[in-house]
Amino acid sequence: MHRPSAEAPALSPHGTEACDRPTRVRVDLDALSHNLQAIGAHVGVPVMGIVKANAYGHGLVPVARHLQAQGIAQLGVAFVEEGIALRQAGVTIPILVLGGIYAPQVTQFLAHDLEVTVSSLDKLRQVERAAEAMGRRAVIHLKIDTGMERIGVHSENAGRFIEAAVASRWCTVKGVYSHLACADEPDSPMTAVQVARFLEACAHFDRLGVPMPVRHLANSGGVLHFPDTWLDMVRPGIALFGVMPAPSARSPLALRPVLSLVSRVVYFKVVKAGRTVSYGATWAAPCDTRVITVPIGYGDGYPRALSSRGEVLVRGVRYPIVGRVCMDQFMVDLGPEGTAYNGDEVVLIGHQDGAEIRCEEVALAAGTIPYEILTGLNERIPREYVGGGPGPG
Ligand SMILES: *Cc1c(COP(=O)(O)O)cnc(C)c1O
Repeated sequence: MHRPSAEAPALSPHGTEACDRPTRVRVDLDALSHNLQAIGAHVGVPVMGIVKANAYGHGLVPVARHLQAQGIAQLGVAFVEEGIALRQAGVTIPILVLGGIYAPQVTQFLAHDLEVTVSSLDKLRQVERAAEAMGRRAVIHLKIDTGMERIGVHSENAGRFIEAAVASRWCTVKGVYSHLACADEPDSPMTAVQVARFLEACAHFDRLGVPMPVRHLANSGGVLHFPDTWLDMVRPGIALFGVMPAPSARSPLALRPVLSLVSRVVYFKVVKAGRTVSYGATWAAPCDTRVITVPIGYGDGYPRALSSRGEVLVRGVRYPIVGRVCMDQFMVDLGPEGTAYNGDEVVLIGHQDGAEIRCEEVALAAGTIPYEILTGLNERIPREYVGGGPGPG
């Protein structure tokens, strides 16, 4: 059974926690433990849990603390600010910042013991200069571009780059990595091409006669579909949260969704046949029908694209959103017979009485990907953490 965790969720900057806002993101820490375990057992190598963008909307600090308590090897974030927030919250395990570095921020990596992604010779020199000035060695991961064309040294030019990095007096090359562009598509030939390019680049370490650093390549798609990408460490993000990276993804693992999005009925009325609902009067009642109002909207990150397209659960039954989703509220048609009372729970993502609405399906209805749905749920919604008993296992 779910019990609120002793460690209360951080107060939202909007103070909604104190006011008992009926809308919340519920984060199931036991499901998170389960997914970490399942992924670890599946790949057989250490896991770097990716917790960028507020841990995919689940709450950066509570998620990172929980993963650390579960014995995860390492964390990854996108920006140095996210890494600093984790250090300030007492997270002590290694943290890699995945993003490209911005020169003025290099000293902050070193000051907070964050591992740096070095994605060019130029950036290697920047890191060296900062490290020397601070008298502090930088722990770096070399980024090789094998087909994403985002950041990283093209694999065909990796020789000189790797040579310079391993010769550096101020940098320790802990890892070498690349990022997969199409691993969420199980049938894409792109991944095999990227693996081949990456391994070719890694061969320079052997050529130079230096120990191979930690090679990591697999995002969630790689973890789920491409064993060749697992190498020495994997970097799942969305799969840790029990959500598939794409509609075509087929999970060989029984992962459990970690996040639920719930609210409550705050208004109930009968809308007469022919009357219209919400801005723009885009939906008209086909008959006298019962309509409820739910106090969450696009101002919370619940997409306006779900206007007359999304569905919710009330008393274990699916009902359609009717009319436009407003900034703070939307309406749901229960039909002429449906029942609900003020205060009844409304599930937007998650389970209720044996029924389920998954994040993947919400994304599809909104014309986007699950990543955008999760990371869009913003700080106005209080987070509630359930489960997460002591220690790993
Ligand atoms: C975001 C990200 C990941 C995790 O991606 P998922 O698809 O969520 O598993 C891994 N590696 C890098 C470099 C990333 O930017």
